[in-house]
Amino acid sequence: MQEMCRAFIDDFFVRSLPGDVSSLNISREVKNACYSIVHPSPVAKPKLLAWSDDLAEKFNLTKPHDKSTDIDLLAGNLILPSMKPYAACYGGHQFGHWAGQLGDGRVITLGEILSSRGERWEFQLKGAGPTPYSRNSDGRAVLRSSVREFLCSEAMYYLGGPTTRALSLVSTGERVTRDMFYDGNPREEPGAIVCRMAPSFVRFGNFEIFTARGDVTNLKKLADFIIQNYFSELGLPSEVTYVRWFEEICRRTAILMVHWQKVGFVHGVMNTDNMSILGLTIDYGPYGWLDVYDPDWTPNTTDFKNRRYSFGNQPAVALWNLAQLANSLGPLVTNPEVFSSGLELYETVFNRTYLEMMSQKLGLKQVSADILTDLDRVLRLTEIDTTIFYRNLTDVELHDPSLTSLLSAFYSAEISSEISSQLLLWLKNYCRIVLQDSIEPEARKNIMNKANPKYILRNYLAHEAIESAENGDLAPLDALLKVIRKPYDDSLEFIRFAEKRPEWARTRAGCSALSCSS
Ligand code: AMP
Ligand code: MG
Repeated sequence: MQEMCRAFIDDFFVRSLPGDVSSLNISREVKNACYSIVHPSPVAKPKLLAWSDDLAEKFNLTKPHDKSTDIDLLAGNLILPSMKPYAACYGGHQFGHWAGQLGDGRVITLGEILSSRGERWEFQLKGAGPTPYSRNSDGRAVLRSSVREFLCSEAMYYLGGPTTRALSLVSTGERVTRDMFYDGNPREEPGAIVCRMAPSFVRFGNFEIFTARGDVTNLKKLADFIIQNYFSELGLPSEVTYVRWFEEICRRTAILMVHWQKVGFVHGVMNTDNMSILGLTIDYGPYGWLDVYDPDWTPNTTDFKNRRYSFGNQPAVALWNLAQLANSLGPLVTNPEVFSSGLELYETVFNRTYLEMMSQKLGLKQVSADILTDLDRVLRLTEIDTTIFYRNLTDVELHDPSLTSLLSAFYSAEISSEISSQLLLWLKNYCRIVLQDSIEPEARKNIMNKANPKYILRNYLAHEAIESAENGDLAPLDALLKVIRKPYDDSLEFIRFAEKRPEWARTRAGCSALSCSS
């Protein structure tokens, strides 16, 4: 184990790809480049607030103590001679419309580090100060959104979902001004920086920007770089390989969507600049987790009207985003129609994997579309907590079904007899199929408990941890981290965290509605 500042740090991305010819750190258009070299802006008083031991271990890194130089490194106050820090150039479709150049406006990648298994991972600081891509913003991040990114990266990882990771959360000792509700009432909030890690942070938008500018040379350079380094099993770059590569991106994205649907995660801003080329969950912003079952639910206040990024719409939006990626890869092949195979594969893989996942959630051999449609209907009859409902389904007495073990999932104390009887009808039908399947009860319980987390990162729990952290009390954050690192466990120690959302959190900002302000 070693300090990060003593680790071998590479500049593979920078030395392999074309960079910005200008070093001017002002907001501007950057052409013919995958990145701009830019240094983080130092912060006043960095302090480590959270750390991922599991991720650190993968890279043999020791947790920094209070006076460690690693804290300076994780805050952007120290740049090692081996580092060539950069902000990546990308564009994107935001809410269905081409938005032009976006890029890392407040993220600066410091370099890559090798894992004990020889994997090369990028590590980057989010909130490290302005870059040429910052447009009119300050390049900083508030503690509130940084805690959310750290927590959710850990939550998603331990739930088994593909995700970028977070190594550290550092407070900066500086204030950042944000108009959280976009209502003309800005206030000062504590600032923070998350160190994020992933094999690559390249997004759909990194390719889109080149095609939008007619820059096929750099489009090809970036595509070939990604294929050779992250998809080498597909063979050397060629027209055939580009098609296989796109198919593989579609396959991974389908798996990612199934995972989000499994655990009730709503990303909130599925713009193409927030879609990872590796099929990872990336950019934790105004995300949320389903409390009440409601496919139309979105946590993002900007999306309240159209609900483009609602829970139920995520798989369709992913396909739309993949179609934009296909368009941007068009110039790499003679006939861009060839990319339709990937889009078809997305639908096939999503449908098959989704049914497998739902079969596991319900503990059935093979779930039918009928039972799912009917379940969707009855779950909407009253406010039912998605996570508790599925987790407690294992406890229903198969030979004599009743709603007793599901009562803790209901948000309303009184349920009409009409609704109860409809729910019971579904339950009886379900139990009949379970009995027909005759899966051994212990085995069924095991399968279900691995598909139905007991603990998710409930929106109000994150909110409580943030409020305490803002007041200097890290205990709730530490406790929550412990819980989300064992999401499928049955332990009673954390039972409070498995309860449904309390009434006070129903309409509280930060619990039920989140803005993009971060
Ligand atoms: P997001 O909605 O977080 O995915 O961000 C969309 C774009 O805005 C990206 O290019 C971000 O880097 C940029 N951005 C978001 N917040 C800031 C900020 N505080 N300063 C500079 N750029 C930002
Ligand atoms: Mg983003």
